[in-house]
Amino acid sequence: VSGLPAPLPPFELQRPDLSSWRLGNTGTAGVWRFKAERPGPRVAITALIHGNELCGAWAAAGLLACLTRHGGALRRGELTIAFCNLDAFDRFDATEPDASRFVEEDLNRVWSPERLADACTRERRRAAELVPWLAEAEVLLDLHSMHEPGPPLLLTGPLASHLSLVRDLGLGGHVVVDAGHQEGVRLRDFGPFGDPVRRTRALLVECGWHGALSSRRVAEDATWRLMLHTGLLPAEQLPFDWKLPTPPAAWKLEVTGAVVARSTNFRFSRDFDNLACIPMAGTEIAADDGISFTTPYDDCVLVMPSLRQLRPGVTVVRLARRAPIAV
Ligand SMILES: [Zn+2]
Repeated sequence: VSGLPAPLPPFELQRPDLSSWRLGNTGTAGVWRFKAERPGPRVAITALIHGNELCGAWAAAGLLACLTRHGGALRRGELTIAFCNLDAFDRFDATEPDASRFVEEDLNRVWSPERLADACTRERRRAAELVPWLAEAEVLLDLHSMHEPGPPLLLTGPLASHLSLVRDLGLGGHVVVDAGHQEGVRLRDFGPFGDPVRRTRALLVECGWHGALSSRRVAEDATWRLMLHTGLLPAEQLPFDWKLPTPPAAWKLEVTGAVVARSTNFRFSRDFDNLACIPMAGTEIAADDGISFTTPYDDCVLVMPSLRQLRPGVTVVRLARRAPIAV
């Protein structure tokens, strides 16, 4: 049947050994905090918001290894590194990688005051534990990977300060400007990170497909660039091969809406690649129990079309207009 998930390539990325890192040094499991004497930006790197997204855990563990080799000394500022959903990660199985995205609830939909206050799931309790370590960050790099193969996506919020972080880091891939998920608030949009007055800079990087070796390289590249840009660590304290020679992102995709499945009968009209561009407005892209979904404008880009988490209420694709990134 057209539109059903295509077979994925073999899952090549190994599960990292986090046994040295899971305790943390803050009293909160999986959370590390380093502070320099010299003032500087407060930076946070978050990995494993989704338990099956291993690339960020590789980068975070690699960075911790660098830091401990150098006695945990930053040049300036403050660095927080968090392995966010270790309970889900512990259940990871490469033969069924989607099963360990979360345990009871998606940890990336609970960052609103109401859900944080209502400790009814493991993930909400974990988010509430993480809040004190993340709420003061001025720069957030949230490392993720995707259900489907594709180029890296740099998910900034609608604020100019978010886009400026992408520009300053010079990351490769495509910028996606989106306001958030209807299902709940993501960490990237959590209180301080969505506040225009505080001018925090928060970026979610979808580094590639969950099982691709390249997703780890993209996560390490983003981490390397963040350490240099913020001045927390110099290049000589980081692995020499982490920086990738990719050209900086040239396109900005502004998400204008999302297609949300109404039923498990939702199907795409054909197998769309991630970032497929549909030239004509009014082209049918999907159907769901007799309801047809069409593109609202010319050159509509389909961002991360996927039925792997299909159930009523789940966003199955986001629609975007594209524009060159002004230099
Ligand atoms: Zn994710």
